Amino acid sequence: MNSDLGAVSACGNIRGMDRSYTELIARLKQVETSSRNVRMRELGDFRIAEREYTLYRIDLKGGEPGPVRVCISAGMHGDEPAGIEAAARFLEKSANNESLLTIFSFVIFPCDNPSGYELDTRYNALGVDLNREFNTRRPADEVAILQNAVEGEQFDHVYELHEDVDSYGLYLYELAVDSSLRVGPEIIRAVSAAGYPINLDECIEGREARCGVIAPGISRFRKTRLPKALYMARLGARHVMTLETPGRALPVEDRVTIQLMALAIALERARGRYEA
Ligand SMILES: [Zn+2]
Repeated sequence: MNSDLGAVSACGNIRGMDRSYTELIARLKQVETSSRNVRMRELGDFRIAEREYTLYRIDLKGGEPGPVRVCISAGMHGDEPAGIEAAARFLEKSANNESLLTIFSFVIFPCDNPSGYELDTRYNALGVDLNREFNTRRPADEVAILQNAVEGEQFDHVYELHEDVDSYGLYLYELAVDSSLRVGPEIIRAVSAAGYPINLDECIEGREARCGVIAPGISRFRKTRLPKALYMARLGARHVMTLETPGRALPVEDRVTIQLMALAIALERARGRYEA
């Protein structure tokens, strides 16, 4: 999460996503047109490096909204495209899944850093790491808009889709108000069983890790200049997981597969817990 400062990812373009934010939004709007469960909302406009962008939030819920509230965010760092693609495919796959939507209501932030996405950089076009700007006095425009968009929202589960260009395998961060919510080790086992590499270092990004899972206590973090995951935890999310797929060690399609596999396992577990 920290280590890919200014790095350029080695991946190429993803199916239908030629690093054009406009095309990404058009693709998502098509899903909205095809499903009564999807609503795309403009959150706000901002201007950066002579370009005008609009940030969106996508609400995905059934006629009778599912009681378990899930937030999925992608593209905070522009050079981590697997998360953006995974979020888009998740929406496409789930838009008409009525059975899923009897349990879950989703809020999806498909691309938090549009200028970084188009430039293929971790930072936005002004060189700001947006994921260190939450809960600051004067955050970047993107962060101010994103903070507004979740004000007063209570999520049961938050999934932040990231990549780490320096990691040789998957790892994840997991914060939970109660240990029964944890699903990280199960995801790691499943991804490993599917033949993908796991980062087994005992220390990742300066934090203690166990078999690919970093599970720090929230009280040990600083209170300002937060990453979005911690901001969401402080807003009251009960379970926050940040996925970090290996941005250079695998082709992008494999990284998207891992992100979707992790989401599916996490939701399956959440569904089981709810139905029990
Ligand atoms: Zn990241």
